Amino acid sequence: MWNKNKCRLWPLIILFFAFLLSACSEQDLANIKLLAHLKKYDQASELMIERNYRQNNPIGRDQWEAFLKVDDSDQLTAIERGLLVENQKLIIEQNKQAAIRKSAINVDPLRHNLPALEQFCQQIPKGGMLHVHPYGLLSKNIVRQILTKYNPIIDPEYFITTINNLGQKLYDHEVETLKNLPHSVKFSSYNQEQQESFINFFFLPKQPPSHDFTRFDAIFTFVIWLIEDENQSAKMQMVYLDFLKTAAAQGLSYVEFTNGFPPTLATIEKLKNWAQLFFKETGIVVRWNIGQLRFLSGEQNGQLIKQWNEILLAHPSHEIVGIDLYAIERGNPALEKAQNAYGYLNGFNQQNPIHPLEMTMHAGEMGDPRNVRDAMIMGVSRVGHGVLLKNDLISLEYARNKKLGVEMNITSNYQLNVHNMNVSPHPFLEFLRLGLSVSLSTDNNGIFDTNISKECVAAVSSTDVTYAELQAMSYNSISTSFADEKTREVLTNRLRQKFTLFELGYGH
Ligand SMILES: [Zn+2]
Repeated sequence: MWNKNKCRLWPLIILFFAFLLSACSEQDLANIKLLAHLKKYDQASELMIERNYRQNNPIGRDQWEAFLKVDDSDQLTAIERGLLVENQKLIIEQNKQAAIRKSAINVDPLRHNLPALEQFCQQIPKGGMLHVHPYGLLSKNIVRQILTKYNPIIDPEYFITTINNLGQKLYDHEVETLKNLPHSVKFSSYNQEQQESFINFFFLPKQPPSHDFTRFDAIFTFVIWLIEDENQSAKMQMVYLDFLKTAAAQGLSYVEFTNGFPPTLATIEKLKNWAQLFFKETGIVVRWNIGQLRFLSGEQNGQLIKQWNEILLAHPSHEIVGIDLYAIERGNPALEKAQNAYGYLNGFNQQNPIHPLEMTMHAGEMGDPRNVRDAMIMGVSRVGHGVLLKNDLISLEYARNKKLGVEMNITSNYQLNVHNMNVSPHPFLEFLRLGLSVSLSTDNNGIFDTNISKECVAAVSSTDVTYAELQAMSYNSISTSFADEKTREVLTNRLRQKFTLFELGYGH
């Protein structure tokens, strides 16, 4: 009886092992093919350097896509893609469980208790913010202060015309509101209600809750009008200080701004003085990334970055640490707009391990879904947003291997229709659990009416993020920053101390 049953089982056992073996070999084959794709990305990186650093001869889109194609024998089948996705899910689950085990505080009870969550997010130690635009920082208070102090003449027609000409957008009722404001008079001539409705144009309307990028963009027509004149520096100093004081009260110790500046000694000097003043007044270490406007040509952006690199080689700066590409991503793909600058700088940086400028880029917020792939191939160590990476399996694997830094802005993504966190969890957490170096930031505190504590609230209330993962994102915001090694070390140690004290005091 015993022997007979045993004999009957043998074919089943053999079948089971045969199944295991075939499953293994399919997974192996999928991994081998994946490696062929990733190798292609590395080769493309070399080509990008060759064409933009050594030859000054940018690559056309068709040639680029043809180069990135792998051999037919390395194309992934649907089943193999499925196996890679399953493998990612496994990693996500394993890292989630590890984070739960590692968490000194259980944040589950806070997820549906807003007052308690807000208090927790206000108190949890923060590191830095790596994705912040000075022109998006203006608070209501500071807009009112600047308008009152400088008392400009307001011509509502100017805004309507400029916004139209630039392809930006206001809602019809907003155009009506503008038209009904007094023309060509000083701000102080407006009554209280008129002042209030004019100031509202510096912020996104609360309704609808999400907007097209063109509506967001219209705000900069107002900000530029308010800021850019002979008093620009004094006005911006007010804006920076107003923001940094609030940021310090929330426990931030480091902020990296992205903004456009002319490549001059005067800029270097101004940013150095500002960084000293801001540190003295708020205790926050401040650095800047040189912004390139996405709607300018690739050649113009390339020229700007080469000039910046040269001037910083001759006149080193602690304060200017990297480059970024920003403004509307839709219609302005990374390959066409960024390769001159990034391909050049990546080549230069590889040749010169000690170099003045690191690289980040707005990519994967909207527009061409290949932008994050191309940004990584161009050598960035971080991207801003990166949300669209969730739809690109191969690039997500590449990002995982590189431990790509991702500057995430949950509220911004919600308000600009990039991701609806009420419908599905924001992908920042999947990225983090896959091993990407995610950190939280705000993009534009003023325009989106947010701050780092509100981003923490958004993260905890809309996902199952753990305390250990919130901590990890704080540490990432320092470790993936472009500050020099010494500064990162000091800030990391300070953060570690703050977490120890926070955990000791939490709940008491
Ligand atoms: Zn941004």
